[in-house]
Amino acid sequence: MPRERLYLFDTTLRDGAQTNGVDFTLADKLSIAALLDDLGVDYVEAGYPGANPIDTNFFAQPRKLRAKLTAFGMTRRPGRSASNDPGLVALLEAEADAICFVAKSWDYHVRVALETTEEENLASIRDSVRAARAKGREVLLDCEHFFDGYKAKPAYALACAQAAYEEGARWVVLCDTNGGALPHEVERIVGEVCAKIPGGHVGIHAHNDTEQAVANSFAAVRAGARQIQGTLNGLGERCGNANLTSIIPTLKLKADFAQQFEIGVSDEKLHGLTHVSHALDEILNRAPNRHAPYVGESAFATKAGIHASAIVKEPATYEHVAPEQVGNRRKLLVSDQSGRSNVLAELERIGLAVDKDDRRVIRLLDEVKEREAIGYAYEAADASFELLARRMLGRVPHYFDVEKFDVGVEQRVNAKGERVTVSQAVVKVKVGDELLISVAEGNGPVNALDLALRKDLGKYQKFITGLELTDYRVRILNGGTQAVTRVLIESADEAGERWTTIGVSSNIIDASFQALMDSIVYKLIKSGALA
Ligand SMILES: [Zn+2]
Repeated sequence: MPRERLYLFDTTLRDGAQTNGVDFTLADKLSIAALLDDLGVDYVEAGYPGANPIDTNFFAQPRKLRAKLTAFGMTRRPGRSASNDPGLVALLEAEADAICFVAKSWDYHVRVALETTEEENLASIRDSVRAARAKGREVLLDCEHFFDGYKAKPAYALACAQAAYEEGARWVVLCDTNGGALPHEVERIVGEVCAKIPGGHVGIHAHNDTEQAVANSFAAVRAGARQIQGTLNGLGERCGNANLTSIIPTLKLKADFAQQFEIGVSDEKLHGLTHVSHALDEILNRAPNRHAPYVGESAFATKAGIHASAIVKEPATYEHVAPEQVGNRRKLLVSDQSGRSNVLAELERIGLAVDKDDRRVIRLLDEVKEREAIGYAYEAADASFELLARRMLGRVPHYFDVEKFDVGVEQRVNAKGERVTVSQAVVKVKVGDELLISVAEGNGPVNALDLALRKDLGKYQKFITGLELTDYRVRILNGGTQAVTRVLIESADEAGERWTTIGVSSNIIDASFQALMDSIVYKLIKSGALA
């Protein structure tokens, strides 16, 4: 049986831009659009031309997208003609392949928010769709608050959707704008809509306020809808939009969907999904969510020793899909519960394969256990584990020694009479026969120490110029008589690779120093620096 086409509509650049703390520049938008297009989504909704300079500029850029570039905006204002509404005119003028209008479909909102009549709202939908069609654009109508509207007054919500469909809208999109609908309600209501409007013209736009945006999208597809709207990594205001990064692999890898539907994302592009997800985080300067389904660092991580030996023998025993299919990797955690099979598998993964009876494996395991007992957590610090293993196997070159460091924090009153705190670090490093002294001021003592450490490493400096600290986490552990500080540092390099290192001490500066040193040494090894 031929598979049915299911369409993916991405709104990362429009609805996703509503995320708290997200502010896309024009350059960000262009690179995200290129990522999405390469992945294989069918529509890229890029913003509101005419409403702000960045979006207006975006649509004016020359581009070569395979996906349909979609402009978003309101239907004509009540009481005005389509040609007499400047917002609508700007939208129609934009160089877009498709236009997505948003309109009210809840009678309560029509009365209270729009302060107009139900009839006038329907006329506005009809006029706007007609005007965009006349401009040769493909048209979509987002029916705002559709599910709440349908529960309150089904005939009116449906009339709004039908008005757009009858005027030639390619898609009528049912929006769960406040994200409160539940999967069984979505399935029932979409089923009723699809009895009036063919499902091949019906889309779903779900928000994640009950953490069911993905489930609601699938419920709508089961009921007949054939377009899913969502965002990469589930970006979006409040709790986010339906997460395409989870929806895409589920559609492609779960038999019930894969046998019935075809999407524009190829198997090969699916292999790049983890990369796409992390690339977006990189643009947003955010640490990736380790626990994200399919693409998170922990998505295929297993901790207990008994499971690990089974996974090594037969991965399918504990994994719902193969990590390679989405470009992720299996991770066997080295931890106090782990057995020898974990350590062996992890050594093999990092390219340090040793014989399974090698005594150094037992020594490494004992060392890990001892260190974890005093607060280290190697499952969260892959790079520090690798260094520990390399040291045990005698495979860490002797690059440099930090002979001494001194960190000071000074509080004083500046010339304007304001209280300021200044942190300064002095680091004495010995590289070969060379003694290097670096001084740096920083935003806090750890930052000052980091800057001073990385300021001058002599002949190794060129290997660490692309090194960047992307995340710094501190936890105070209450280990018996005295509190211990655990520091985790995430670093990234010019190639976009990320790694995490750890330090533990009763002193936060010392714990940070250990983690910083591990990160620098790890980077030197990775770059192939020779001692
Ligand atoms: Zn939305």
